[in-house]
Amino acid sequence: MGRNYVVAVAGNPNSGKTSLFNRLTGSNLKVGNWPGVTVEKKEGKVVRGDITFTFVDIPGTYGISARSEDERIAMDFLTKDRPDAVIVVLDSANFNRNFYLFTLVMEMGLKVIPVLNMTDMAEKRGITLHTDRLSAVFGIPFVKTIASRGKGVSDLWKVLEGVGELEKPVHLPAYPKPVETAVETLMNRFPKEAASRFQALGILDSGIVIPDNDELRQVVAGLQGKIEEELAGELDELIAEKRYEFVYSIAKECVERRMSTEQKVALTDRIDRFVTNRYLGGPLFLFAMWLLFFLVFTVGNPFVAWINAGFEALSFLIPGTGLFTSFVREGLISGVGAVLVFVPNIFILFFLIAIMEDSGYLSRAAFVADRFMHALGLHGKSFIPMLLGFGCNIPAVMAVRTLENEKDRVLTALAIPYMSCSARLPVYLLFVGIFFTRYQSTVVFSLYLLGIIIAILVARVLRKVFFTKAVSPLVMELPAYHVPSLKTAARSAGIRTTFFIKKAGTFIFGTVLVIWILASLPVGVQYASAGSVIGRIGSAVAPIFHPAGFDSWQAAVALIFGFLAKEVVVGTFGVLYGGQTALTSAIGSQFSALSAMSFMVMTLVYIPCVATIAVIRREIGTKWAALSVGISVTLGYLLAVLIFQVGRLIGIG
Ligand code: GDP
Ligand code: MG
Repeated sequence: MGRNYVVAVAGNPNSGKTSLFNRLTGSNLKVGNWPGVTVEKKEGKVVRGDITFTFVDIPGTYGISARSEDERIAMDFLTKDRPDAVIVVLDSANFNRNFYLFTLVMEMGLKVIPVLNMTDMAEKRGITLHTDRLSAVFGIPFVKTIASRGKGVSDLWKVLEGVGELEKPVHLPAYPKPVETAVETLMNRFPKEAASRFQALGILDSGIVIPDNDELRQVVAGLQGKIEEELAGELDELIAEKRYEFVYSIAKECVERRMSTEQKVALTDRIDRFVTNRYLGGPLFLFAMWLLFFLVFTVGNPFVAWINAGFEALSFLIPGTGLFTSFVREGLISGVGAVLVFVPNIFILFFLIAIMEDSGYLSRAAFVADRFMHALGLHGKSFIPMLLGFGCNIPAVMAVRTLENEKDRVLTALAIPYMSCSARLPVYLLFVGIFFTRYQSTVVFSLYLLGIIIAILVARVLRKVFFTKAVSPLVMELPAYHVPSLKTAARSAGIRTTFFIKKAGTFIFGTVLVIWILASLPVGVQYASAGSVIGRIGSAVAPIFHPAGFDSWQAAVALIFGFLAKEVVVGTFGVLYGGQTALTSAIGSQFSALSAMSFMVMTLVYIPCVATIAVIRREIGTKWAALSVGISVTLGYLLAVLIFQVGRLIGIG
């Protein structure tokens, strides 16, 4: 016995219905007129085994109601002729809009075969529909197709051949209690007119003209009155709203949206029109840097205050005056603690640099800088190692290996030490916290900027002196932007911060220990007095710094030992002056805002740390490393003096 199935093909306009219909029916296509209406309908018969399928291509609609001719035809066919199954063709790239119709068809109580068409378009837009989840939610198979190329049609046939055993969808929108009660009443008492939830709802919200039945009309009026009493607002709007909510909840669970490569490239181009713009690029970069430091402070400082309080409390817990006590309090807590309090700022700095790197912005910064760098006779590519120098000069110098020619490597390695690394930050933080409380981020930002300017000028001058050939133009591949991973950035910042902490616990601790010992000798001397060994060393050197505005022996010692690592500058003050409160007041009285400025510039410019020099030597040779030390010390000193003297002349000091 052959079986006969009538299968309607429904869907939004342009979802690919006709394409699919043609794929299914092939040459059996037959075009006919629907009785009584002018709109064409297409019918196609296909025999597969002992089953005869009659496919009916119904007009494309977004909704199903009596509002337009097309929709009325579609509704009449689906609700009156009640096909054995309905293939709902869904444009996967416009899931929400298409799924609305799917929801209506399900509510008609028909067997539904959802076809996710246009999967190629969806994929291009970064939309993935999870058929396994959809099938699990509705309890029916979903088929993915590309109707225009006939892809997935054989899968659809498999579902069609089992259409006799196909279940109806199990998941439908739910409505407020009074509506549900009314739907139930209508479906029970008028099974012909209210043959499905769809029809019952349509009768209730007047989407469907009530059939000629006085009893039904009365009952409906009663039910509507009851619903009106209990629910505010228009019923048709409420029902539509629930249906949309239903669609959204399905989309949320089963549709995944990423940005496609195509979109990423397009978006990247659009962003780059601003970011790498000839006029906007530079200011944007400066703004990004300023924002960086603004965040380093505003986010970091509350934490710094807590840690500070913690160290203070710790040092109160250690009473007495013994040697060991002094060591723990002055050396350990004051010295190392003075450096460690800035861990939050350091973490945020690393975190934000990682974000800039990961998002692809750092490459743009180099690209923007290239134009400017070229004008100065430098290679734009050099800017990336230089930017890395903000974190730590050591890996930055190592990164010069990526530059093609010797000259660029040398010039960049010599420029990097002026890039203000994170070890200098504690020094700035200490001083701006005392002298520039209201302009902290602006002052620190200017120091970083000054570093860049000096770096570029130094390279420029050295190029004039040692190299003369022209610079090759920059060919740079800019990676597409992507949303930076906060987790990756946090991990990267975590690793670098741990390194900073370790350094404070080992190397800086060791140096601080030496300073503490020298400050306690000779035996019997008052700790950290001018008479101690360290005091005498400092006093011998201090006069040199008189023209720069800071001639305390402690400052001299800080700068001498800061050569080992710049964090030590702060550590030294900590050891010599004592805990935070004492440290703050001592610095406050020994420096002025002007000399604080010259001291910070000195710290920024004079000598990179030992480790950086060692790496410079390894990368480009002893001669250059020595030159780097010579230039930086001279330049740092001259700038410090210049700032102080000019400042005094114009009456700031
Ligand atoms: P209908 O309005 O629902 O009948 O849609 P049509 O079958 O007329 O298709 C509309 C347009 O989409 C036509 O140009 C088809 O070639 C195209 N099309 C149909 N299915 C797909 C598909 O899966 N992928 C792509 N890229 N295009 C399709
Ligand atoms: Mg069509």
